[in-house]
Amino acid sequence: MRGLTPQSLLEVCEWAESEHPANRAVALLYAASPDTSWDELAALSIGRRDALLLELREKTFGRQLEGFASCLHCGERLEFAVATSDIRVGVGEQQPEYHFEYQGRAIRFRLPDSTDLVAVSHLPDPNLAGAELVSRCLLDQLTVADKAEQVMPDTGLVNAVAEQISQCDPQAEVLFDLHCPACNKDSQSLFDIGGYIWIEFTDLARRLMQQVHWLARGYGWKEADILRMSAWRRRYYQELLGL
Ligand SMILES: [Zn+2]
Repeated sequence: MRGLTPQSLLEVCEWAESEHPANRAVALLYAASPDTSWDELAALSIGRRDALLLELREKTFGRQLEGFASCLHCGERLEFAVATSDIRVGVGEQQPEYHFEYQGRAIRFRLPDSTDLVAVSHLPDPNLAGAELVSRCLLDQLTVADKAEQVMPDTGLVNAVAEQISQCDPQAEVLFDLHCPACNKDSQSLFDIGGYIWIEFTDLARRLMQQVHWLARGYGWKEADILRMSAWRRRYYQELLGL
């Protein structure tokens, strides 16, 4: 992964602004990894994809993450600060399929990827979307037949597969501990790595465009020429304008 150039940062933010969050995550990685195809990145399990997003985040902004979460008990807004190493989970190679036994039956499944998340995003009910996601990931013949008849697998099987998926892709679900000083209770918050990083990159893109605006107005330079300059040069020219 080489990281994002100023040009690629603006292009990816502009293109993905109206896209589903899963496509935004893939788009960031695609812009930062020109040697990897879109399809390869979109087929990464959510955890493997998020591990790469953390790597890109470290390259661009460093290891310290700060933000806000709500207390689950009283809703108080809580500030948090974590290091990327605190939320990084060791993940092995992604396998094309995984197995487990459910009620005496061998079940084969794969891990959900960004394509799956986009495919179920039209379902407003989170339970239905979750069941459809699991259904897409089941590989055994019986379930394929079920799918043809538009029959969802039973809830027990859906829950069992969802549990297996969590175990096989732990980076996909990062929880961290919060203590609320208002109600003095502890809670855990789910950390949406893709959403958090997208906001950081779009903020950076806006700051960059602000700088392009000043330099273009001050010197009459073209956007492409300003973006090709180093950050050091842009900052110095901006200071010379008294901004
Ligand atoms: Zn609280």
